[in-house]
Amino acid sequence: MNLTFSPEEQAFRAEVRRFLAEALPSDISERVRLGRHLRADDHLRWQNILSEQGWLASNWPKEHGGPGWGPVQRHIFDEECAAAHAPTVVPFGVNMVAPVIMKFGSAEQQQRFLPRILSNQDWWCQGYSEPGAGSDLAGLNTRAVRDGDHYVVNGQKTWTTLGQHANMLFCLVRTDPDAKKQAGISFLLIDMQTPGITVRPIITLDGAHEVNEVFLDNVRVPVENRVGEEGQGWTCAKFLLTHERTGIAGLGHAKQALRHLKSLASRIEHRGKPLLELPSFRHRVVKAELELMALEVTNLRVIAAARDGGVPGAESSLLKVRGSELRQELSELTRRALGPAALPFFPDFLHGESNLDDERAQSAAASAQYFNRRKLSIYGGANEIQKSIVAKTILNM
Ligand SMILES: Cc1cc2nc3c(=O)[nH]c(=O)nc-3n(C[C@H](O)[C@H](O)[C@H](O)COP(=O)(O)OP(=O)(O)OC[C@H]3O[C@@H](n4cnc5c(N)ncnc54)[C@H](O)[C@@H]3O)c2cc1C
Repeated sequence: MNLTFSPEEQAFRAEVRRFLAEALPSDISERVRLGRHLRADDHLRWQNILSEQGWLASNWPKEHGGPGWGPVQRHIFDEECAAAHAPTVVPFGVNMVAPVIMKFGSAEQQQRFLPRILSNQDWWCQGYSEPGAGSDLAGLNTRAVRDGDHYVVNGQKTWTTLGQHANMLFCLVRTDPDAKKQAGISFLLIDMQTPGITVRPIITLDGAHEVNEVFLDNVRVPVENRVGEEGQGWTCAKFLLTHERTGIAGLGHAKQALRHLKSLASRIEHRGKPLLELPSFRHRVVKAELELMALEVTNLRVIAAARDGGVPGAESSLLKVRGSELRQELSELTRRALGPAALPFFPDFLHGESNLDDERAQSAAASAQYFNRRKLSIYGGANEIQKSIVAKTILNM
């Protein structure tokens, strides 16, 4: 199915494609293609190239140094980046905390933090979840007590993605334990070099070091690093979550995964015939492809509404649920297509310390990605929670 883009949008797509062909370093795109773990330097190198081109902060308005793209251009850009195996831009700075600082931050905070995000000087991570506060985020217990010009912060954050590379943490803290849960929360920007912060790795099922625990022990944070009023952190937190969920459908990645699956299934044989001709397997691939088309149309509908000045609300929950389920199904089908070849686990290869021939590399990627994709239905708010939001807000149940 072909979705219609205007001649300007098609020209923009061609421009992005040209840029990616010239500027994306081949060693980085190869690591992404093979599902190898990216190093901090891979992310930074690519993000510096995007920054020089003026395309790093694809969601920012021109006044803050963004390209001023509309939602359709951003959609095209994301799709082309996924097709070219470009690393996903680390979202915590540009896509998450920056919109919060633009909307709720003081002029001084905007001048201080936004240029540093744009030039990759700061690497941000997200301090929302705690061991007892994930789905029930408002139940968080990390405590900030005012002491003169500072808050003294004590508590523990968890699942902090790429926190091992970060020098800045945006953090939800409880400033008033007596207020109603949501009303006692504030939003702080914390320098990770401050004494009292410890980062400990959590190794995930695929052997990757992607997430961490962050311990805060009497960490002194200047009051000027609070975004918005004291006790208004929940408003910032919710605003940020809609931005987090909107790109989370991962359409470009799903399309890329489908292309890869179809190519594999037309080469791998089952009883003398390509796997793609086996009715039971073909049925699942076709079903996934139809769901992908439906998701793309829904995504463009949401984009069209945003283009006319609307803000994605509960629709972002819908995109998140369907997009994550689809990407999990595609990784499951890829693993099935490879059969026993997808079983071995090659940690040295995934960490980039050894090489494999292309066939074995694809098998290694398939099993690692299958395990890694389990996270998609959990992070950004678990799918069960998103379904409740859709039921309440869209279906009025
Ligand atoms: C890979 C990864 C990266 C992450 N990165 C970050 C990060 O950088 N920063 C950060 O702050 N957080 C991060 N998270 C945390 C993520 O946001 C939480 O894991 C998520 O919100 C779920 O919370 P939880 O893990 O505490 O699960 P719980 O809230 O304990 O939920 C456990 C299960 O119970 C279900 N459940 C809970 N409540 C309900 C309900 N009311 N109705 C129906 N079902 C329910 C959930 O859907 C889930 O299936 C990350 C998580 C993962 C897996």
